[in-house]
Amino acid sequence: MDGLVLRKLGRRFGAVDAVLAFDLHIKPGEFVSLLGPSGCGKTTTLRMIAGFIDPTSGSIELDGKVLSAPSGSVPPEKRGMSMIFQSYAIWPNMTVSENVAFGLNLRKLPAEEVKARVGAVLETVRMSHLADRYPAELSGGQQQRVALARAVVIRPAVLLLDEPLSNLDANLREEMRFEIKRMHDEFRITSVYVTHDQGEAMVTSDRIAVMNNGRLEQIDTPYALYSRPKTRFVASFIGRTNFLSGIRGNSMIDFAGFSVPFAAIGEEMTGGGPITVSIRPQAMKLSATEMAKDKTINLPGSVKQSSFLGETWDYVFQSREGGLQFRVAAPPADVFPVGTPAWLQIDPTQIVPITD
Ligand code: ATP
Repeated sequence: MDGLVLRKLGRRFGAVDAVLAFDLHIKPGEFVSLLGPSGCGKTTTLRMIAGFIDPTSGSIELDGKVLSAPSGSVPPEKRGMSMIFQSYAIWPNMTVSENVAFGLNLRKLPAEEVKARVGAVLETVRMSHLADRYPAELSGGQQQRVALARAVVIRPAVLLLDEPLSNLDANLREEMRFEIKRMHDEFRITSVYVTHDQGEAMVTSDRIAVMNNGRLEQIDTPYALYSRPKTRFVASFIGRTNFLSGIRGNSMIDFAGFSVPFAAIGEEMTGGGPITVSIRPQAMKLSATEMAKDKTINLPGSVKQSSFLGETWDYVFQSREGGLQFRVAAPPADVFPVGTPAWLQIDPTQIVPITD
């Protein structure tokens, strides 16, 4: 199979399973983030891919070739991968262009080709004008751009990024996400990006692998993860959401004060037993009047809390029957002072069943 394949990958440290039965297929040219809270096993997974630590179970393959033990562990320098760390790790005694050229010179490429490739990659990371500076004369963001340029210029089979933006201040982090995305769009190097920042993962990635307790919870595009989370963990780790508990009848889910047919939700479901669903604050609408559309759920109630966040209002709405509370995100023009009676409108296709 082409690309990077993790098969039932596991790593145990004493009694701790840092990574457990992790299956993942990263396609050639794809950018995948490993996203999850501290201690979920992201870095351990990345270090196994790089070859810095051996797995205790499972295997790692690149373009059909097994890299990991037990069939013989390929050492890190023979895996054709580049890694970028939190600390920029560029050589202080070399200029920007010397740093970037280093890997190409090591591979004994002709001088003209080195010059052309260094020039092109410095342009991509917008560092051409600083090519003759030394690292001490650069800002943190500029140093990280050099580290990126140096990693991609050798055209590695896989680019591994370990929280590369975590030493930068908030504004720069935000800007650098887009730089990383732009660079990936240009070079299309198969990339694995470790982060605990969902915004970073969403901007940069084709797909995000959400990890929890050493396991893969869900892998999907940023849009699919946000709109169709499969578990409570994913629904709450990626953005904010409302959880509702219901009971599955024969063909309807009964919530406190209202019911929704299985068919309206649009997912395969069987009757009997409790169910939890997620409804995003953005997936609902507050209205001063009841809406006529028969497919929309209309819940009467009132606004209990309101905060203006600039791009949206953040309302807490309480339904009259059942007393359910919902966080609702509304556009700035939709003004509902606290205490106002209102209708909450829910499109049933936005109700997502999840596992707890
Ligand atoms: P962070 O975001 O904080 O870097 P992470 O998701 O990258 O966290 P890992 O560093 O992969 O998590 O750690 C996963 C688990 O394995 C943690 O419980 C950690 O304590 C444990 N662990 C990692 N390396 C070792 C080690 N060398 N010896 C013992 N336990 C380890």
